Amino acid sequence: MAWRDLFPVLIQLDQVHVVDNKRDSIQWKDGDSVSEVSASNIWNTVRYSDLEVGWSKIVWCAHCIPRHAFLLWLIMRKKLLTQDIILQWDLSRRKNMNMMCCLLCYENHDSHEHLFFECKYSAKIWNNVRQKAGMYDVAPKWEEIVEWLLDRASSKSASNYVSRILVAATAYFIWQERNAKLFKNQVRPPDQLCQIIINIVRYKLMGVRLKRNDNVLKLLREWEIQDGDRSDDGG
Ligand SMILES: [Zn+2]
Repeated sequence: MAWRDLFPVLIQLDQVHVVDNKRDSIQWKDGDSVSEVSASNIWNTVRYSDLEVGWSKIVWCAHCIPRHAFLLWLIMRKKLLTQDIILQWDLSRRKNMNMMCCLLCYENHDSHEHLFFECKYSAKIWNNVRQKAGMYDVAPKWEEIVEWLLDRASSKSASNYVSRILVAATAYFIWQERNAKLFKNQVRPPDQLCQIIINIVRYKLMGVRLKRNDNVLKLLREWEIQDGDRSDDGG
């Protein structure tokens, strides 16, 4: 009775079986399944969950670079605040406002499709780095790039892993450059940005444990990574 006074909700229970010699524990009930109480179990119950999208494996691949993956996720969902998206917020402003042109080339509008990577500036970078990921004939068009990656989304090969992180890094640095131009009026030459992208992918490769086989060894050679360069703590 003391328990029922303390926790009136217990009155709703038909019958309480008290098992001696067994400690009470708090559990989380989600529909019919009962699990331990943890932040992840609670989050999985309260969050809205939809069917898994095909591109999730490209974005959230193992050993991705988290800040690049997050940006890639925003691009896939078209959530970056490019001018085309901002203008959609307020249709009435469209009448009075012209869409800002792309500050990297001044030849087109600032939009997802244009920045990744149809823009003259972006295309130059993409055409320069793509061969490092074996994507020689993939045009600087987001749809084509995603299609290429989707065809290989279930592959666990090291070369496909490189393709995913290289595409994410390229998009990330182009978005950074677009913002640097917009807010600080600074932009680095495409060659310099290519080198930064390649270096960051290379450093990542140096830190990731890849199961060695002939293809992996060939890939590491192509990226000029010696066995001694690689750290052993994964990452
Ligand atoms: Zn442009």
